[in-house]
This record gives sequence, C-alpha cells and structure tokens, in this order.
Amino acid sequence: MRKPVYLDYAATTPVAPEVATRMAECLTLEGIFANPASRSHMYGWQAEEQVEEARAQVAALINADPREIVWTSGATEANNLALKGIAESYRAQHKAGGHIIVSAVEHKAVLDPAIWLESQGFRITRLAPTNEGIICVDSLSAALEPDTFLVSLMQVNNELGVINDVKALAALCKSRNVLLHCDAAQSAGKIAIDVKGLGVDLLSLSAHKFYGPKGVGALYVRRSGEVKIAAQIHGGGHERGMRSGTLATHQLAGMGQAASLAAEQLVTDSIRIAQLRDRLWQGLEDLPGIHRNGSATNCVSGILNIAFGNIDGEMLLLSLRDLAVSSGSACNSASMSPSYVLKAIGLSDEAAQASLRFSIGRYTTADEIEFAIEHIRSVIAKLQKA
Ligand SMILES: *Cc1c(COP(=O)(O)O)cnc(C)c1O
Repeated sequence: MRKPVYLDYAATTPVAPEVATRMAECLTLEGIFANPASRSHMYGWQAEEQVEEARAQVAALINADPREIVWTSGATEANNLALKGIAESYRAQHKAGGHIIVSAVEHKAVLDPAIWLESQGFRITRLAPTNEGIICVDSLSAALEPDTFLVSLMQVNNELGVINDVKALAALCKSRNVLLHCDAAQSAGKIAIDVKGLGVDLLSLSAHKFYGPKGVGALYVRRSGEVKIAAQIHGGGHERGMRSGTLATHQLAGMGQAASLAAEQLVTDSIRIAQLRDRLWQGLEDLPGIHRNGSATNCVSGILNIAFGNIDGEMLLLSLRDLAVSSGSACNSASMSPSYVLKAIGLSDEAAQASLRFSIGRYTTADEIEFAIEHIRSVIAKLQKA
C-alpha cells in the first residue's frame, strides 16, 4: 500500500531532522542526561545550560525576555495555566468571581478550561466571529464589563487559518485594564510574533506545530506586577514557582532548536507554502458548488479549508484514502458532529460536514499538491456519478 500524502500539518508536524539530533544528544549516558535542577555537579549544570539555551531560543522567536518563558507540556497546558492561573489569582484578590471573554472559535484547550471556570462561579462570554472567522475589536469592546479581568483570543484559527488583529485587540484590553491571553499555537513559526509589539500579557506555544516534538510547549508571562498567575501544578517550585516538575531536557532542547529553525526559515517557508496552497486552490476552484471557508487574504499560508458543495462529507473523507487531511467534523464516540468552528461562521451542518482542512507544511512538495488535485477531482467525479 502506498502511503497517503500528508496534508495535515496543522494537526501536527514531523520533527525536523536537526531537532531530532539535538534531542538525541540529551538522552543517553554519553549525552546530557542529568536533571537540570541538580545544582551540585557538572552533569546538572550542563543540562541546565541546555534548558536555558532553549529558553533563549523560544524567547527570541516571540521577542520575549527568557525570564518570561514558563515551560509546559504543550499549548493545552499553557492555555489551562493562563486561564486558571489568572482566574485563581483574581479570585484571591477580589474574593469574587469576575468576567472572562473568549471566542466561540477558540481551540477546546481554551473552551474547556472556560467551561470549568464557569462551574467555579466565573462568568464567561463567548464572542461570535465574523463569517470569515475573525474576532472584531468592536464586538470585544461591546462585551467588556466592569469586572472583566481576562480576555483569551487565538492569533490564528486552527481550522480556518484566519488571523486575528491581536495588536488592536490588545490595545483595547490595555485601555480597559484587562489582561489579554493569546493562543499562538498555530501562528508561532508561521507569522512573525513580537509579544512586546503586540502588547499581549500571556501567550501559548506548542512545539509540535512548528517541527518540534509533541508534549512540550511554553507560556509567555509578561514580567509585570499586573500579570500574576497561580500555579496549577505544585511540587518543588520549578519555573519560579509557576510550574513544578523535572524539566524534560530533550523536549526543551528540541523545542528551542525548532524555534530557531522556524525563525530562520519563516519567510522562505511561508512564501513557498503559500505558492503550494494557491496551486491547490487553483486546481480545485472550478469544481461545482466548491467554496473556500474563512478568508483568502487574511490567513496563514499553510491552511486551506474547503467546503465541497452537495457532497456527503463522510463519503468524501472515506474515499480520499490517498490523502491524510482533516475533516470538517469531529469524530465523537457515536457520530460525526459538524465542526463548531464552521458552524460559528454560518455554515449549515451539511456544508460543515462536506468541508475538509488541507494543511501544507515545510516538507510538502509540488508533486504532492498535483497528486492531491488529481485525486480529489477523480474522487469527486465518482461521488457525483453515484
Ligand atoms: C494544537 C493546538 C493546541 C493544543 O496544543 P498541544 O500542544 O497539542 O496541547 C491549542 N490551541 C491551538 C490553536 C492548537 O492548534
């Protein structure tokens, strides 16, 4: 059996070869295996040096100070730490629940902590996006209340690829003395991020979305008396008390190396990937009833979300055996439920179910795109006959 062409880079990316090498050097007896928290011998100091080099590399990717980087197990944990950590310290100060704003199209790693905080007495507003999937400054402005203390909005949507104007959203938050957390799992390494220029207070990263390993990420926490997060994992006071646990040297070194590579290759990667994305769309856009979800202009280069009109989505995905892509529906235990993101931008259940997300990455070739176009066209021709 031939392997399907991988067009699911927004779900996860393979580890870059250079990254795998650096990770391997942090595992065995001959390598840098020690506990970075061991202060009493050379082995520990070397491990700590690796971790701090990685911290500087990740900080450089987003123009942060290395002291503003808190290591986590990924963006899910970073989002949880941001939302719950800020909410807990707000409650300690104000002795009451306050108001938090998120959007309806955030990743589950923001929406689910928000549901949990709601159960703990905080009020949550979920902003509706435009029909392109973007959160407007005006809708945020209208939703702010006197006791709003935290806004959490993503920079790039993982299903649509659309980009929010984080700088404008942050300026509004600042003017109202509200903290802004940004889930940047899909934007880091894809578009330039400058936390200082953007004016965000907290920002989540995930290594495996930019050719680093899975199971590692970071939360940027702006150094300021206003941004206090309560730890959610206790046990030894690592990461200046914000996140305990022995640091995984190999994971962090891998994330650091991946961050450096991403920064180096950001412009060339994104230009090449945009050309492949445009070719893919050009090869499909004349199909009857086809429609591009999201925005064709305000989006990252790697994500193309397409609604294939009048086609059964489940059948389409099943028939596209030679492509690894994501569907516009989530596989629940029993059934396929249409994507809440596509529903939120106004798609019908049928249109959402007939949508696919193609995501292109650093290792996608022009041949793979040509193959994908032919494969999709032939599958759709067959489905339309049936
Ligand atoms: C992948 C992703 C996450 C989760 O990151 P993990 O590191 O896999 O936990 C969160 N938010 C967005 C937007 C993502 O794309």
